[in-house]
Amino acid sequence: MKAAVFEDIERIAIKEIPKPDCPKDGILVKVQACGICGGDVRNYYQGLKDHMKNQIMGHEIAGVVEEAGENTGFYPGDKIATAPDISCGTCYYCKRGLVNLCLNHKMLGTHVPGGFAQYIALPGFVLQRGFVEKIPLSLTWIQAAFAEKVAGVYACQERCNISLGDRVVIIGDGPVGCLHAEIAKARGASMVIMLGLGRLSLVSQFPVDKLLDNRDSEGAIQKVLEMTDQIGADAVICALPVASVHLQALRMVRKRGTVVIYGGAPKDERRMSIMDSNLIHYNEITIIGSFSYPASGLQDGLKQIQQGNVSVEKYVTKEIPLEQLTQGIVEMHEGRALNIMVRPWLKS
Ligand SMILES: [Zn+2]
Ligand SMILES: [Zn+2]
Repeated sequence: MKAAVFEDIERIAIKEIPKPDCPKDGILVKVQACGICGGDVRNYYQGLKDHMKNQIMGHEIAGVVEEAGENTGFYPGDKIATAPDISCGTCYYCKRGLVNLCLNHKMLGTHVPGGFAQYIALPGFVLQRGFVEKIPLSLTWIQAAFAEKVAGVYACQERCNISLGDRVVIIGDGPVGCLHAEIAKARGASMVIMLGLGRLSLVSQFPVDKLLDNRDSEGAIQKVLEMTDQIGADAVICALPVASVHLQALRMVRKRGTVVIYGGAPKDERRMSIMDSNLIHYNEITIIGSFSYPASGLQDGLKQIQQGNVSVEKYVTKEIPLEQLTQGIVEMHEGRALNIMVRPWLKS
């Protein structure tokens, strides 16, 4: 079979390698689509976790079961989607059901060969403690492969409890920010204000009530206060991997409101975060982090798409064959493409 193998930093080779055997306790899946994740882009330039090399990346997979081991609950012909995290099932957090915080967490496409290949073997421990879900029949491959992205955003808004009538500020006008806007509206937010740098002009396609230019960050704060009767937003979601927006968020959120930090900052910038402890104290602001999703995460993501709350086609700007993976990663890195899907059976 054909596979894109990450050999080392900035080096991916397209190789003909043996089709994997179906694990006795697992399934063999014919990959139909695999999204390029921000994580894949980061890994391409910075290396895989635990210095893994010669690995097939890719974890936002949709495909069809070709072979299934006994008692797996899967059968040939089942359509499935995956998400990357694999928890251990035994650590302090797993015992408490918090699989996203697992102390021994592993990832599809890093520790287990991923989806930038024509086939993927998913062993039993991935079926049991990872994310492999049957796809609702009405979804396309592209929609199903996109569900992982939705999962994280949905879990974040569950955690900060965006609900009916909320006024929400989203900092970041990239695809993640747009997803937050769609999910917030679906949850009943009455107002969604987005702060962006105008890099991508697609925000107008999404349910954003007001897009503010955050190059004038002071002006943006004043405008948010004006639009919220000088009260501030119920929640501010920092959907931008830039630590410097955190103080700005504290100044736009209302008393007793919530600031969510969604998305890690680059290593060299993460200590630049500035917090005003007096604002947190006197305004009783809650600051929370949100990472990955609970065990139901991928199901939740699929359901949001199935219900029509996420317009996947607006994000996926391109479908490419395996051979163009490196180009696709570079394009996403340079902000020239929103979301790219690899179709391993597409002719190059
Ligand atoms: Zn991903
Ligand atoms: Zn664990």
